[in-house]
This record gives sequence, structure tokens and C-alpha cells, in this order.
Amino acid sequence: MKPGTRIGYGWDSHEFKAGIPLKIGGVTLTHDSGLGGHSDGDVLLHAITDALLGAIAGPDIGSLFPPSDPQWKNADSAVFLGEALRRVKAAGYELVNLDSTLILSAPKIGPHADAIRKRVAGLCGVSPDCVGIKAKTPEGMGTENAAIANAVVLLQREG
Ligand SMILES: [Zn+2]
Repeated sequence: MKPGTRIGYGWDSHEFKAGIPLKIGGVTLTHDSGLGGHSDGDVLLHAITDALLGAIAGPDIGSLFPPSDPQWKNADSAVFLGEALRRVKAAGYELVNLDSTLILSAPKIGPHADAIRKRVAGLCGVSPDCVGIKAKTPEGMGTENAAIANAVVLLQREG
């Protein structure tokens, strides 16, 4: 008998690089730099993807979509999230709600939180009131040139 509910946790970080678009939660934000590295660098979607995969004890995002594989260069991270959601459904579960915290010095997330919440909710197939988007500045952490995202998800068994 499968558990009725499962939780998952994900964490990610990316370094800011000048001259590339900044995407957070599937929303492009106006800023002088974006997040480099794997795919489009969407740190929030990566953390949510890993939380979903973790909840079903699946492989992590780096195993499914290796940064060394050129096909994922500049990829839309919504593709990774979609694969995680497909695996959650295949395992017999559905997403109940998710919560997240971003840690970055700039830009301010508050003015964009509702847009990000709606976009993430749309990608995940849940209501916006089931998506928590919180942001903090990295006080005393020395990570001013990085964006960090933490995410937790709750799944329930379908049917
Ligand atoms: Zn990432």
C-alpha cells in the first residue's frame, strides 16, 4: 500500500552573469544580469522540479537532464518541471501545494511574486493559492552574486 501523502524538498543555486535574461519561476524579470549555467538557469523551477522528484524518491534533475548534455543548453526549465509532474502522476500521486523561498540580493521579488505564483501554478496545474513564493536577501551569507531557491511540495495519492 502506497502512502497517502508524501513530501519533497528541493534546493538550487545559480550565479548571476551579465547580459543574459533573468528567468525566475517561468517569468522573465527585467534586470542587468541573469542566471548562468544549466539550461535557462531558472533556479526556482529547478528547486521545485527536484522537490517533486524527491517526493517520489526519483532521480534528481541533474541525473535526468545532465548539464553536460548540449541538448539542455538554454533549455526552457518548464520542460524539466513537466517531466517531474509526469513522473509524479505515473507514480499515482498529485500535487496538493508547494512552498518556496528565494534568497537573492536583487532584483526585489515582491512586486513580481503574484506573476511568479500564477505562472508556477499554471505550470503545476494547481490553484495560485496553493503556491507559496517568498523571498529574502542574503544577510551575512556572502552570496550576493547568486540566486538560491528552496522548495517543498506535498503530494497526495490519486483517487
Ligand atoms: Zn539549476
